[in-house]
Amino acid sequence: MPSTYEVINPANESIVETVNLLGLEETDAVIAKAAKAFESWKNVAPGERARLLRAFSQIVTDHREELAQLEITNSGHTRGNALWEADNVANTLMYYAAAPERLFGRQIPVPGGIDVTFKEPLGVVGVIVPWNFPMPIAGWGFAPALAAGNTVVLKPAEYTPLTAIRLGELALKAGIPEGVFNVLPGKGSIVGNRFVTHPLVRKVVFTGSTTVGKQIMVGCADQVKRVTLELGGKSSNIIFADADVAKAAAGAPGAVFDNAGQDCCARSRILVQKSAFDTFMEHFEVAVKKFRVEDPNLATADMGPLISKKQFDVVESFLDEPVAFKGSAPSGPGYWMPPTVLLPKNTQSRSWREEIFGPVVSVMTFEDEAEAIAMANDSEYGLSGSIWTRDVGRALRVSRGIETGALSVNSNSSVRFWTPFGGFKQSGLGRELGPDALDSFTEVKNVFISND
Ligand code: NAD
Repeated sequence: MPSTYEVINPANESIVETVNLLGLEETDAVIAKAAKAFESWKNVAPGERARLLRAFSQIVTDHREELAQLEITNSGHTRGNALWEADNVANTLMYYAAAPERLFGRQIPVPGGIDVTFKEPLGVVGVIVPWNFPMPIAGWGFAPALAAGNTVVLKPAEYTPLTAIRLGELALKAGIPEGVFNVLPGKGSIVGNRFVTHPLVRKVVFTGSTTVGKQIMVGCADQVKRVTLELGGKSSNIIFADADVAKAAAGAPGAVFDNAGQDCCARSRILVQKSAFDTFMEHFEVAVKKFRVEDPNLATADMGPLISKKQFDVVESFLDEPVAFKGSAPSGPGYWMPPTVLLPKNTQSRSWREEIFGPVVSVMTFEDEAEAIAMANDSEYGLSGSIWTRDVGRALRVSRGIETGALSVNSNSSVRFWTPFGGFKQSGLGRELGPDALDSFTEVKNVFISND
């Protein structure tokens, strides 16, 4: 029974498009096609595979405006973000386009012959994408997977399929052979789950909630299927009194309210050293009130709407704690919410512990370094975070003390396509991006060749 999904523009609640969702049989057919394509794709000469990935990157760049516009309409992302996201796909493809000719093995000294290792592709890789960053998160999976010689089946989130569908078309236009990169819009319980259960899918790259991630891990265990998980977060923005407090406060709204807070790296806990609290809050209030929540098509927009009514209701349920101050948001249709700063009573408050995934941040104080580290680590998550201090020794000690995968000091930027990204604890398993990502899309094969 074919089913469909109506894509809604979250900025005005209008229907954008109706997308067909794949059923089980159709999913199996695409997986079979990807498995067949693997037989030839893995044997494409390294230089030719690299050339095709460069062509794919170039065509994404040529269509950056179109892709960005699709994301603004489908996801409510600001124009600035959406352009960055399209460029991130092109950049990630270009970065991993350098990999096919550099998938080096080793030559290991042994008696009686030579011993060499090969990095072999896995086969069909299933990439399951959430709705918050549809383009980059797709690219972080498919670009290294394709570069390593795998074929890909990719499932976008139900809410946000449009850019993934377009990327699938652009790949074909760029010359990527039929069956090598396949986009399958569909439900998590049908298409996503089939990636887990289908024996020809040899690896699942999942980004999404910790709850579903755990189910994926359990499901993959049955076939000892390789799995990378990028899950939730509850990251800290730690401001020491010796920092440039005004600069930290000016950057704090962007660190949590970017993408309306629907960001796994959102610094949704702010920890301020007690002696700097009043100064920080003064500057922070000015910055939050200046944060522009408006039509995401405007070049001036800092933040757009939330993705859905459902997400709006989830986020609203956190707003029963004491409010320090709020920003502003448009009224009328659309899932608009003003950035909101909470002052939770203690570290057991819901807003302090749970991932909110909306434009809400909680602020608390700490006395010293040890307490800051303990408070930041008091979470089941460990994805990202920021540390603001002028003391280099303190920056090092706190960086080493915090159990999290991607930290920044005197900055809030933690994602670059050429550096590793992923989480400690329940924020995930494995790393994406950077120079080592190819290792999680290949198996090491050891071959001994006798002198005889
Ligand atoms: P989600 O877990 O509900 O869904 C993610 C994807 O999994 C969707 O494509 C969905 O259709 C699919 N899915 C759902 N059930 C499935 C199942 N049983 N089997 C297979 N696939 C299934 O998450 P979401 O609501 O789309 O995204 C928000 C979450 O993603 C947040 O918790 C956020 O922190 C997390 N996230 C993490 C990162 C990271 O890199 N760590 C990045 C972005 C988002």
